[in-house]
Amino acid sequence: MESVRKTFGGSVVLRDIGLEVAPHTVTALIGASGSGKSTLLRCAALLEDVDDGEIRLDGEEITDPRADQDAVRRRIGVVFQAYNLFPHMTVLENITLAPRRVHRVPRSRAEEQARELLERLGLGGRAGEYPDRLSGGQQQRVAIARALAVRPRLLLLDEVTAALDPELVGEVLNVVRGLKSDGMTMVLATHEMGFAREVADQVCFLDGGVVLERGTPEQVLGDPRQERTRRFLRRVV
Ligand code: ATP
Ligand code: MG
Repeated sequence: MESVRKTFGGSVVLRDIGLEVAPHTVTALIGASGSGKSTLLRCAALLEDVDDGEIRLDGEEITDPRADQDAVRRRIGVVFQAYNLFPHMTVLENITLAPRRVHRVPRSRAEEQARELLERLGLGGRAGEYPDRLSGGQQQRVAIARALAVRPRLLLLDEVTAALDPELVGEVLNVVRGLKSDGMTMVLATHEMGFAREVADQVCFLDGGVVLERGTPEQVLGDPRQERTRRFLRRVV
């Protein structure tokens, strides 16, 4: 992202955002409520139009009005805090929907891939269940499987553990750890500083729509340069 600016009804929510994410790395976005983390992720996923600036994915400017936005969206997986599974569909149907409808993958192949994903995320045997029969942690893992089913280049995770009971947080964080070791490129907004420190290659502290500080977890969380970062960390850790 370069000089990205986003306003909502005249109020500036992101101002001059510069952010670089290397392939196969994990970036954690931290910052107070309202600092712009979700908006940044939504802009990156092209779920919001930016007012100014550029976003590039694999060198292609995806904010260019001439870019094929649907094709770009298919290369980016997004998982939100509320898992938003389709309640009237089984786990397997939830996961295979996009590969079948959007990517025209034949049903048998899509289902085979979905079962592999479920196995990998510790949900083998759950394929035929409806979402309301699963725990929050299991539903969130299905949501991650659904995002991965289209084989995205980039996975964006917006506080995927925030809605979960504390005892279920660990299983979702484990999935993120597994994806990191598989080399998935991820950007995640999180309030879990311990997790950010462990899993992130890069931590970005957002403050009032600006990236105030960006660096390794050791730098940003361990030895922040800015007084505002320090104050934020004192409050949350
Ligand atoms: P949290 O930690 O609470 O999730 P956040 O860092 O994700 O916060 P955002 O949701 O990105 O923050 O919101 C940043 C600012 O943009 C807030 O002031 C919010 O009120 C505003 N905002 C977000 N979405 C919209 C919208 N659709 N319309 C108007 N204002 C919005
Ligand atoms: Mg948010």
